[in-house]
This record gives sequence, structure tokens and C-alpha cells, in this order.
Amino acid sequence: MEAVGDEGSLDSRERSLRRVCDQASRCERCGLSETRTQVVFGSGRADAEVMFIGEAPGADEDRLGTPFVGRSGRLLDGLLAEAGIEREEVFIANVLKCRPPENRDPRPVEIESCSVWLAKQMELVEPRLVCTLGNFATKLLRGDPTGITKVHGTPEIKTVAGRRVRLYPLFHPSAALRSTTTLGLLRADLMRIPDLVGLPLPAPEAPIGGRSPGEVPGRQLGLLDPE
Ligand code: URA
Repeated sequence: MEAVGDEGSLDSRERSLRRVCDQASRCERCGLSETRTQVVFGSGRADAEVMFIGEAPGADEDRLGTPFVGRSGRLLDGLLAEAGIEREEVFIANVLKCRPPENRDPRPVEIESCSVWLAKQMELVEPRLVCTLGNFATKLLRGDPTGITKVHGTPEIKTVAGRRVRLYPLFHPSAALRSTTTLGLLRADLMRIPDLVGLPLPAPEAPIGGRSPGEVPGRQLGLLDPE
């Protein structure tokens, strides 16, 4: 049994995350379990103030079991370093924990099935700032179909997994690999993270009809028990 007052400590979060990672490693909630090499759960500090959420593992991530270790990941690491952020300080995850074959787009049924793991990660890590990388993560977390070109670099307060967070949509690093304009925008947006993370978060508003204003619908972010 955990010691009284241990809840929320780094140790207890790490233990809980490991437990959830272990459950996720056996996940068969969608067909991607048949084609993956392994589940790519996520990496970083269990009590990170900043969480990055990408789209899905690619071939390198599927092989190595860690998110953002291919070309996009190397770019992200470099841009984070420019902004004075160490990769080890943040938590990095994806909307999908398994690689879609041939890197095709995630399907709605896969996003829905997999969102239980993301919700658990957010519940345990309790980030203050959630940076969504690209369209898939941004649309899921905002609960809205507006594309990343319109909303990148615009922070907003949302209630996700029962907690207030500052959501910060960013271009996906793979888009920045294809366009120097996008690279410049991503770099500029990332530079603002150190300031944004220190901003206060307003207290949750009283729920109206069972849901707080601005709350991402529970079903969408899989606020169901993963078991
Ligand atoms: N690697 C990841 O882990 N996620 C992406 O979205 C892209 C590459």
C-alpha cells in the first residue's frame, strides 16, 4: 500500500505509469495490435509540467519502442534545445500507441480505442501545458475539427481528464521537415513554452449538466477504464 501523502509524488507516478504501460503493452483494443512490433507507450518525466502529444509511432519508433526517435524526433529534440528545454524534462506520447501500417493516417476507431491510454497518461502526469503536435492530436484534444494551420501557437484553457490544462497546438515536426516556413513557425511557437508553462491555470468552473465548460467529451478522450 502506498504511504499516506505519497499520492502524486514522482515515485508513485512512476509506479502508476509503469503499471499502465504494462497493461498497454498487451493492448488488443484495435487491429493495430496485429501489425505492430511493440506498443510505444511514451517517455519522459512522470511529473512533467509539459506534455507533447504526437500522432503515431513510425517505423523507427515501432522498432525501438520510444516516441519521436526518427527524423521528426531529432528535429523536435533540436528545436526543444533551442528553446532551452531538455527532452528528459517533458513527457512525450502519441495519440496512437501502435504504428499504423505504411504510416497511414490514424482511423477514427483506432483513435477512440487508444484514447484511454492517453487519458490515463494525462491523469497520472498532470501536465500544466499540453502541446499537441499536428492535426490528429490537436483535433482530439480540442474536441474540434479546426486544422492546425488556423490554431497553431494559440494557447487555450481546456478541461481534459477532469483537470484544467493549457492546450498549445503546434505544427507537427514532420510538416516542418517538408517546409522551411512551417519550420520557422514551429520554432517560434516552441520558444514561447518556457513563458507559457509558468502562467497560472484558472480553477475549474462548476460543471453545467455534468460537464465543465470547455471540457473535451469524456468518450472522445477515452475517460473510461482501460481494463
Ligand atoms: N514519431 C512519433 O512518435 N510520433 C509521430 O507523430 C511522428 C513520429
